[in-house]
Amino acid sequence: MPRRGPAEYNATIRMPEHGSIFGAMLQEFDEAARLLKLDPSIWRILTHPKRQIIVSCPVQMDSGEIEVFTGYRVQYNITLGPAKGGIRYHPDVSLDEVTALAAWMTWKCAVAHIPFGGGKGGIVCDPTRLSRRELEALTRRYVAEIIDAIGPEKDVPAPDVNTNDQVMAWVMDTYSMHVGHTSTAVVTGKPIELGGSLGRREATGRGVMIVTREAAKHRGLDLAAATIAIQGFGNVGSVSADLLARTGARIVAVTDSIGGVQNPKGLDVPKMLEYAAEHKTIDKFPGGEPITNEQLFALDTDVLIPAALENQITVDNAASIRTKILIEAANGPTTPEAHQMLHERGVFVVPDILANSGGVTVSYFEWVQDRYGYFWEESDVNARLEKKMHEAFHAVLQTAMKYGVDMRTAAYIVAISRVGTVTRMRGMYA
Ligand code: GLU
Repeated sequence: MPRRGPAEYNATIRMPEHGSIFGAMLQEFDEAARLLKLDPSIWRILTHPKRQIIVSCPVQMDSGEIEVFTGYRVQYNITLGPAKGGIRYHPDVSLDEVTALAAWMTWKCAVAHIPFGGGKGGIVCDPTRLSRRELEALTRRYVAEIIDAIGPEKDVPAPDVNTNDQVMAWVMDTYSMHVGHTSTAVVTGKPIELGGSLGRREATGRGVMIVTREAAKHRGLDLAAATIAIQGFGNVGSVSADLLARTGARIVAVTDSIGGVQNPKGLDVPKMLEYAAEHKTIDKFPGGEPITNEQLFALDTDVLIPAALENQITVDNAASIRTKILIEAANGPTTPEAHQMLHERGVFVVPDILANSGGVTVSYFEWVQDRYGYFWEESDVNARLEKKMHEAFHAVLQTAMKYGVDMRTAAYIVAISRVGTVTRMRGMYA
């Protein structure tokens, strides 16, 4: 195993013992790399971010004062193609988190078998306290600060936590103004009218539905009779709930950052979508009883879907989790220690880098359509997504069986093999 002392790291990346998210990613990586008997040189390359950018973004607030926000863009690896990954707006964004998320994007794109590397961006801010004008100014200044690093061939951002198609429209416009022509392929998750893809908004949730269906089939569980609990009702959680309810499954509980609701008979998801659109939360939704997040995790359901943030399932609550199947719609919702506990208890975990790869897969379709200037029907997008997700799920499942490992380790094995092979073929420059 390669030596990888703390001194090798950028000082701003905290090591695993300090609760680092990047440290958790490394733990997962190392497990798979050991089984693969990965060449130490490749090991060393793949455990270091290629490029980390930190920018200060001064913004004139509505009050007239200037506020300075910190932004990051990390390009973890670009061996397979341009860096790809979202931009998140959240008060807890850190370089450690963005680096881990950029690494996960690298493995996710490799598992999805699309020609992208991995990147991620973030701005430390509380978007709920920004006006629309402030949000636009912040977005444009952030893009201007990282402008040399992004582009259709270099690094292609997308939506993530608290960013949406409007934010992507501002990213696209700012970049286009700087280069002097309209460049749609610089960002994905855009509004349909300006080069977005049909089906992109629903893609992550649709992918979650597809892997849940495949996982249920594998476990001999009838999805149409299954009970499902979902943490998070943002873009991913709400679409997953909607599409899974359409398969006949019962969505028995949902929580969001404000509150939660449960109904053992099944929640009326279309009504919840309407309620959430109006109230910006599902808290106090009249179709059920209140439930906390910890209660949701402990429910005796067939499927549990964390669709919010990292580090939700930890050693503190893993023992109380009673689900049969865990579908990681969020990035990094389970710590490595908690994952080990669940695996030993026989919970079938579909890892984030597989479970939520539907989003970036349709981002790839959007990028292809933009570069072609030719746009597909929604049914075409969905059929191609179905095929990609099916292939990815079964490639990982077969690897899990071949190596006798859990699905997370198997997904890493698939990803590391693909990126590692190309790294070796391309050889070392300099
Ligand atoms: N933010 C999403 C993710 O974490 C989508 C990224 C993309 O489409 O580039 O996978």
